[in-house]
Parts: sequence; structure tokens; C-alpha cells
Amino acid sequence: MQKIDTDRILTLTGYERADFASCIGCRICASVCTVNDFFIDANPQGILLKLFLGMEIDPADPLIHHCVSCYRCTDACPWRIRIPEVIRAIREEIGHGSPFEKAFRGSISIWGRVYEPYIFMNAMGFLIKEGYLKHIMKLIEYLSFHLPHKAKRS
Ligand code: SF4
Ligand code: SF4
Repeated sequence: MQKIDTDRILTLTGYERADFASCIGCRICASVCTVNDFFIDANPQGILLKLFLGMEIDPADPLIHHCVSCYRCTDACPWRIRIPEVIRAIREEIGHGSPFEKAFRGSISIWGRVYEPYIFMNAMGFLIKEGYLKHIMKLIEYLSFHLPHKAKRS
């Protein structure tokens, strides 16, 4: 099993280990988690507990692979713990990234901003593989917003 450096996770998120002592184990985060809408049995609280105790985190944990950063857990948590940021830090540490995340990063490093056509081109393989091409017209409609338009003469 790939070893995850929990100290680095804490550094990336800006949390101290002791901050997770505030987690009361209510598992409201799990009850609202989008991943569990798909019956995947994700438990954000379990990951926080492991971070708090300095225990090994399983890189194959379904939450690490399926979290969609919706922040439902953070909104519902009594302490508003930023769980998706913890998950993103773990992904960063294990080198797991969706094609979109990689394309976003590439765009920021080249242009300092999100440049949609670049992201689209870089994620093309993924879009085809996952059957997203049926939404292509919507995407083109959206992208055309960002292309230069001829000024209309009155
Ligand atoms: S941000 Fe991730 S962990 Fe939180 S509710 Fe959404 S999918 Fe679940
Ligand atoms: S909702 Fe917040 S306090 Fe409750 S278990 Fe989840 S992270 Fe901990």
C-alpha cells in the first residue's frame, strides 16, 4: 500500500493535527456526502480520525477517488471542517488527479487563469471515453461565450 505522509496533508490544508479533535464523530458529513448518493459507502469522518491519530490512510479509499468537492459535508458539519480540501491534499500526495484537475493546473501555470479551450483539449480523451460527447453542443455554446465576437453595427 502506498504510504501517505499525513504531516504533508496537514501542511497542504493549513490544519494542525489537533484541529481534528473538534470532530465529534457525528458522521453528518457521511450522511450528506454526494458519494454516498451512489451507495459507495464513503466515510469522511474516518479519514479525519486517521489524520488526527496519525494512522495510515488507505489510498484506495473510495472517497479519495470519488469526492466531487461539492462541500455538502463542510456545510453540514457543526465545525465546518474543510473535508474536500483534505481529500484534495491526499490526492495531491498520492498523485491522483482527474484529467480536469491536471488540465486546470496546466492552464493556471501557463496563463495564470482558467482557459477553457485548453482545458477542453486536454480533457478530450477523458470526455470521449466517459461518453460526455453527447453534451458537446452545450459545451460549445458555453465556450463560444469566451471567443471573440464581431461588434454589431447599429
Ligand atoms: S465534498 Fe466530497 S466528501 Fe464532502 S460531501 Fe462532497 S463528495 Fe462528499
Ligand atoms: S460532520 Fe464534522 S464533526 Fe461530524 S463527523 Fe463529520 S467532520 Fe466530524
